[in-house]
Amino acid sequence: MLIWGGLLYLTKLDFKTVLKLCKGRSELMRDFPADVTSLDLDYLVGVGGNHGAIKAWLALQLYWLMGGCKLRRPRMVENPPAVRYQEAMLRESDSRFVIDRIRGLDSEHGIALNHCRLVHAEYDPGRRVWHVGLRDELDGREHEVRARAVVNAAGVWADSVNRTLGVDSPYKHVFSKGVYLAFPNDGSERAAAVYPMRHGADVITHVPWGPVMMWGPTETGVDDLARGLAPDRRDVEYLLEEAKGNLPGRRMGAGDVVSIRCGVRPLAVPAGFRKDVYPLTLSRRHRLVADEAKRALAIYGGKLTGSLQMADVVEARIRGWLKPRFPCEPPVLPAPERAGVHGFVTPEWARDHEFCVTLDDYVRRRTSIAQWTPRMGLGPDGGGRAALLAVAQKITTSGDAGAAETMVREYEERVRSTYDPLLDF
Ligand SMILES: Cc1cc2nc3c(=O)[nH]c(=O)nc-3n(C[C@H](O)[C@H](O)[C@H](O)COP(=O)(O)OP(=O)(O)OC[C@H]3O[C@@H](n4cnc5c(N)ncnc54)[C@H](O)[C@@H]3O)c2cc1C
Repeated sequence: MLIWGGLLYLTKLDFKTVLKLCKGRSELMRDFPADVTSLDLDYLVGVGGNHGAIKAWLALQLYWLMGGCKLRRPRMVENPPAVRYQEAMLRESDSRFVIDRIRGLDSEHGIALNHCRLVHAEYDPGRRVWHVGLRDELDGREHEVRARAVVNAAGVWADSVNRTLGVDSPYKHVFSKGVYLAFPNDGSERAAAVYPMRHGADVITHVPWGPVMMWGPTETGVDDLARGLAPDRRDVEYLLEEAKGNLPGRRMGAGDVVSIRCGVRPLAVPAGFRKDVYPLTLSRRHRLVADEAKRALAIYGGKLTGSLQMADVVEARIRGWLKPRFPCEPPVLPAPERAGVHGFVTPEWARDHEFCVTLDDYVRRRTSIAQWTPRMGLGPDGGGRAALLAVAQKITTSGDAGAAETMVREYEERVRSTYDPLLDF
């Protein structure tokens, strides 16, 4: 959820990329002021003595200048000694940022489909048209659509979608698993902090997000994507160990964990890349692959920061192939209906306007309930069940009274079998 200006590339003296990412960060802040905010970060300088502190201070001044002096100027702070500088961050969540963009484009001319998988695709070069098979993952039915161009924006699944499309790529993805633990934040911690990892040359962050502090991430190369998408006990143990060493005296034990966030970063490398390297040494930049003959594009790698710039490039490529048939201006949408202490969108609103059809859609993606309430929204002793059932009753459209109960029961079973054992120390 952080919108980095490319500090990682400054350490590699790649000034061009830093300038590009700082520009991307400024554009996101300018274009989406309601969604993006600045965030104070304390870059800890205790390690390396004065020498380390001066070096970090100078580097962060340069970083600030390269960002066009748009954010607050870095300054030294005490207890612990750190250089306080700024990045940008999404106010609510990455999922909400995405759904708000998609919602704006759902119209009579463009349809957004949730839980819909591309299962086959054939290009007819004579008619210059794609025949695409889409499967509704909830009822299993398949549908055929035609397309004059396709864009593969499937993130870590881009290689497998390219295989389905029959598109060759000079790039492939290397996968890097990342895990965060969330601990309670009573509101007293407003600045994020960047700590050196005790084992390894990387850093670890402590970031305020609503009522929690996120601690992480890990950075582990994985070959098997499916296994990378789920956290395991070693990830949790590692983060708890780092917390004990870096933040002694804090309540950051297994029993304090509010939630675990896990994902896999898609890192674009040349297709022939075979090296076994620490994933942080690999670029996080976007790459665009174009198959001109088939009118297919594929996006590799990337971060939030450069996503708008990539979207502009994709749009320009498609306009080079096709003339828009319909007006492209997104309609002005009403603000979502919100309720409760955290102002989450209501289940009814999410159901009617945001393609929300499962409990996971609502508690993990339309709201942050699963990340801000222990045991993925169930609560420490299961006390959140009634609230989850009330949500399920509102989002199930089948009218079947048993469907909501089944939805919650399956959710509970998943929490018991996959989540609880991770924290059972
Ligand atoms: C721990 C961690 C922390 C991170 N922190 C940050 C950060 O602070 N800032 C930042 O900028 N980036 C961060 N990232 C990276 C960021 O999450 C990714 O770069 C980003 O999610 C990639 O977006 P995407 O749209 O390309 O892919 P995704 O978000 O993965 O979207 C791809 C979509 O394609 C869909 N899809 C896949 N296959 C099919 C198919 N066959 N049919 C239909 N749909 C399909 C998927 O369901 C998915 O919805 C982090 C990543 C991790 C793992």
